[in-house]
Amino acid sequence: MKKRVFSGIRATGRLHLGNYLGAVKGMLELQNNPEYETFYMVVDLHTLTTPFDPKILQSNIRGIVLDYLSVGLDPQKCTLSIQSNVREHVELAYLFGTQISIAKMQHLPTYKEKVKQHPENVNVALLNYPVLMAADILLYKAELVPVGIDQEPHIEVAREIARKMNEKFGTNLVEPKRFATEGEYVPSLLAKGKMSKSVEGSAIFLTDSLETIKERLAKTPTDSGKGEKVPTEGGVNTLLTLVELFGGKGKREKYEKDYLKDGIKYSELKENLANTIYKELKPIQEKRAELEKDPEYIEKVLKEGSLKASKVASKTLYEVKKAMGLI
Ligand code: ADP
Repeated sequence: MKKRVFSGIRATGRLHLGNYLGAVKGMLELQNNPEYETFYMVVDLHTLTTPFDPKILQSNIRGIVLDYLSVGLDPQKCTLSIQSNVREHVELAYLFGTQISIAKMQHLPTYKEKVKQHPENVNVALLNYPVLMAADILLYKAELVPVGIDQEPHIEVAREIARKMNEKFGTNLVEPKRFATEGEYVPSLLAKGKMSKSVEGSAIFLTDSLETIKERLAKTPTDSGKGEKVPTEGGVNTLLTLVELFGGKGKREKYEKDYLKDGIKYSELKENLANTIYKELKPIQEKRAELEKDPEYIEKVLKEGSLKASKVASKTLYEVKKAMGLI
């Protein structure tokens, strides 16, 4: 039997380079490895844990599916679906919720961060986020989860739940591991923290034009371009990280040498970097424009994907319900 993979992205808006390099690149790599069977979702239920607009939710969900397909996820190779279409996720999350403490959830860094970001919106579903995520992953008995490094504590919760369920009820759940990419942590263009949808000006989006990419990079803070030690944080580090992720280690090393010797010309670096990033995004944008013309195809992919996902998910749910004495 093939090893399974699960990953999902929330429908909170367009994808940015952090999502692309930290999660989607890993999803692509595993989809193209015949040893794995891959399940990828738009996790729309997780989207509801932070403030959202019901009027644009459907178009955001379809937007992520379009992004998935335009970067090269292939429905012939992976199963693409929407979380709320596979009801087993919520049911399993409820069962898992009976086995994990509230205190544990309250101490997770992502929860604390969201509480700070949206103090007026600290809801039960937000606290339960990692439990639903554990259900997402464990339903498919996924061994690998391609996600960014910020998700590591959540994967740990999933492992803990699997272990506990197996010990206590004799289920056969699989303890998952994160599948890391080179871009597991893409720093913010604004120099502090990670690139994120929710921080204005921190990200470059997959749909950005060359002009927009240049404008965004122009705002990344730099220094004199010269020094005794290459910075490992701040705007210069963000630029060098992007240079490496899009142009390779050699290019980064060249700039690092310049920094220690003659100095970096940031205008030149930013111009080259913008062009390199856009070169990779252009074909993705062209494919997206094509796919946008065929909404029926998208619906067909999702319908088939949800059926396939439900088949696997219902088996695991049955196993857990039986083990817990519900059947
Ligand atoms: P955001 O933080 O922008 O709202 P999500 O929480 O929807 O993004 O994350 C979707 C996926 O993208 C997750 O796997 C997450 O780990 C990854 N990801 C998000 N931001 C980054 C980043 N800056 N660097 C690497 N991976 C990231």
